[in-house]
Amino acid sequence: MCAQRRFFITTFGCQMNAYDSWRLATLLEKNGWQAAESRSQADFVFLNTCSIREKAALKVLAHLRELAPLKKQNPSLIVGVGGCVAEQEGIALYDKAPTVDLVVGPRRLAEIPYLLDSWDKDCSPIILAGDPPQEAVFNPQNVYPLYPQDDKTNSPLSAFITIMEGCNNFCAYCVVPYLRGREVSRPEADILAEAKSLLAKGTREITLLGQNVNSYDPDPGAKASQSGSPFSRLLARVAALEGLWRLRFTTSHPKDLDPSLTRLYGTLPKLMPHIHLPLQAGSDKVLSKMGRSYTKAHYLSLIDALRKSCPQIAITTDIIVGFPGETEEDFQETLAILESIQFDSIFSFKYSDRPNTKANNLPNKLPEEEKSRRLSLIIELQKEISRKLNMALIGSHQEVLVYGHGREPNQLAGRTGNFKIVHFPGQKELIGELVTVSITNSGPVTLKGEIIDALNPTLRKSQRA
Ligand code: SF4
Repeated sequence: MCAQRRFFITTFGCQMNAYDSWRLATLLEKNGWQAAESRSQADFVFLNTCSIREKAALKVLAHLRELAPLKKQNPSLIVGVGGCVAEQEGIALYDKAPTVDLVVGPRRLAEIPYLLDSWDKDCSPIILAGDPPQEAVFNPQNVYPLYPQDDKTNSPLSAFITIMEGCNNFCAYCVVPYLRGREVSRPEADILAEAKSLLAKGTREITLLGQNVNSYDPDPGAKASQSGSPFSRLLARVAALEGLWRLRFTTSHPKDLDPSLTRLYGTLPKLMPHIHLPLQAGSDKVLSKMGRSYTKAHYLSLIDALRKSCPQIAITTDIIVGFPGETEEDFQETLAILESIQFDSIFSFKYSDRPNTKANNLPNKLPEEEKSRRLSLIIELQKEISRKLNMALIGSHQEVLVYGHGREPNQLAGRTGNFKIVHFPGQKELIGELVTVSITNSGPVTLKGEIIDALNPTLRKSQRA
């Protein structure tokens, strides 16, 4: 293979997948590969897949079909599939799409550069799934930008750090525990070392990442002697690092969200006022069938506690409609809880059967048209709620971290502390800075504004830290 080998990665699904794609891109670049601008210019095309929803898995097969003519033109092109579809399907994926050369589960990504270095097309397909043979789950280099790089310092302004892998919860509809394995928490010292190294390179916002961050616990034997949960202690320690402006995390499970974390929203200024707390359904009957281990009343009590600690907190959630056996009354309960909580935004999905999950075998599956009807009602309701909440911000002054360029010329884009996207006129020199923006207009998804202060008090305070 020539010296200028080029790769092209397409990512489907969640932030874990986005993170894994960055991890793979960085590993490939370290091994002499370059990013290609399109699939047709690449020697290695990788689809990093998601199988949480059936639709996402079908999309992957459609992409593989599209790659067949490219492979005909360039027989040395290597096509890889990673992520949850790869773990779930294994060799069966090759039967469905013979374009595939390499099928790699999420825990085996680190092996790809070595495989490519010794590639022998006569031996394909190669299937790697399950746990890696000996490698550590975490690689100290696994730190990649969440947003386009800050073009002044050429370092990632906003980065993810994985603090744990896998999940122990086995929600009835979810494939994650089967495909990403059981929970493994990363040692706190490693996470802090990685955060320090990022901050030294110019990162200003860190998002701690895990399927269920609230059950982070690298040392279960030690917890009795210390106050607060291990995750709360980790947050406080990361927040104390010099140079950090903003700290976020995702994703929380409502059954594990403890008061020590809720209190941090009132006491840690760098912890941004936003939480993503998946609700999934508003009916206790459906929550119980989903195996979520909390009730509507418990969820509402968490929202109360969070808003008491931090009145301006933005709360976002996930909703699944049409779970097997969900009646019209159950669905109305979900609409009612959306009205009562007033989430800032939601991710909503139609239930779909996923292989090996408990829900697969439940009776009373809903017809597709009914699930679509319910989804449209949820989306319409939420659009109105988001529009109203965003309109209420018109005239307010928001601290915005400038991530990059907006869609229009001379326009910049950034996020407020509570994770709302703002577009405003400004010069590229402000990318990577905190600015104060006066909000002048809004829609259900984004805000518009004008900069009123390019070096605000928070930034000055952070610079002194
Ligand atoms: S908490 Fe439930 S939904 Fe979330 S990853 Fe674990 S099993 Fe899946």
